[in-house]
Amino acid sequence: MEKLNTIVVGAGVVGMAIAAKLSENQDVLLIEQNAQFGEHSSSRNSEVIHAGLYYPTHSLKAQLCVRGKALLYQHCDKYHVPYHKVGKILTAKTTREADVLSQIKRQAQLNGVTDLKHVSGSHIQHYAPEVQATEALWSPSTGIIDSHQFMLSLLAQLEQNQGQYVANTQFLSAQKTPDGYIVELNCDGEPFQLHCQNLINAGGLFAQKNAQMIEGMDDAFIPELHYCRGQYFSYQGKHPFTHLVYPVPEQHGLGIHATIDLAGQLRFGPDTHFISSLDYQINEHEKSKFVHAIKQYWPALDETKLHSAYAGIRAKTTRSGTQDFTIQTYETHGCQGLINLFGIESPGLTASLAIAEHVHSSTL
Ligand SMILES: Cc1cc2nc3c(=O)[nH]c(=O)nc-3n(C[C@H](O)[C@H](O)[C@H](O)COP(=O)(O)OP(=O)(O)OC[C@H]3O[C@@H](n4cnc5c(N)ncnc54)[C@H](O)[C@@H]3O)c2cc1C
Repeated sequence: MEKLNTIVVGAGVVGMAIAAKLSENQDVLLIEQNAQFGEHSSSRNSEVIHAGLYYPTHSLKAQLCVRGKALLYQHCDKYHVPYHKVGKILTAKTTREADVLSQIKRQAQLNGVTDLKHVSGSHIQHYAPEVQATEALWSPSTGIIDSHQFMLSLLAQLEQNQGQYVANTQFLSAQKTPDGYIVELNCDGEPFQLHCQNLINAGGLFAQKNAQMIEGMDDAFIPELHYCRGQYFSYQGKHPFTHLVYPVPEQHGLGIHATIDLAGQLRFGPDTHFISSLDYQINEHEKSKFVHAIKQYWPALDETKLHSAYAGIRAKTTRSGTQDFTIQTYETHGCQGLINLFGIESPGLTASLAIAEHVHSSTL
């Protein structure tokens, strides 16, 4: 049986970043059940490089988003991944929302984000013409990225380090051995076994299911999984925005915000909708909700130019309150060589390189 140092399950942006990093000093196999990498959350998001404003002090999200943002900008420069530090304007319309902005500014400072600028009502038009708000925060370090090119660059890095990537290969189960795991795979319909010392479960929306199939992994450590769908509408036509425009965040997401992609196309979303199964169906009937939310900050919206686009699904571990990333090592679950990543929702794209660094230090 072939023996490897590490198998990484799941070629989303997080598994790919981990595989690329680990391949610097060990032999790594990255497996993906689909024909293509990144078909789930990693290609169904806002492609925003988040600054790290909102997350509670010392949370993994706060630490890994701020560190990940810095690593990501460096990586994009080094590997010629298209990005644009467009900046974002976070708007408030009421005194309650203005208080939320003040809290966000304080939290951002605690998280090490010190470049936020308060914008008074009369100056908002300078950042976002046609946007109506009483005050705002300007975040200059927020950006947008071509996530597909980013994933391609990670794959190139992995292959340059002699790491391997195979698609159409599903992780089925793992049995414990004295020095690692015998991993059962389904390779394009054929059963296959490999031995690895380290097993990294970066399965995104399937991470809980994968964990259940690992011998020795106590179910008590596997968090709940709740699918929370976020839908987007694209805006087909001219628009006045050159920066991202956000309302104040809501309970399960960042609110229906306006993002532009690298081609300048405007889109709105994602909304939040808990669903019972993995279903990326988009719903044109949600349009009136979007129109209402967008008109709160952009009353001049021409709704005939708004068309449903795509949806992504957040891997929530709870339906109430804030959640953090869960990265479990031996210290949590007692399984030597196993690392599970659960609940890697936003800002997982931004944080991916820092998550990889974190996992790397846990496997040394
Ligand atoms: C609507 C939405 C908007 C978002 N916006 C942003 C944003 O603007 N900025 C940001 O930083 N983050 C954002 N995020 C978060 C970001 O997209 C995710 O954190 C990130 O993509 C998670 O990557 P992942 O690799 O963990 O998961 P995924 O991309 O879901 O990848 C997991 C992979 O594992 C594979 N897999 C699972 N089980 C197996 C198995 N048994 N065998 C083989 N393969 C397996 C799956 O097929 C999948 O390809 C957003 C997320 C959503 C849903």
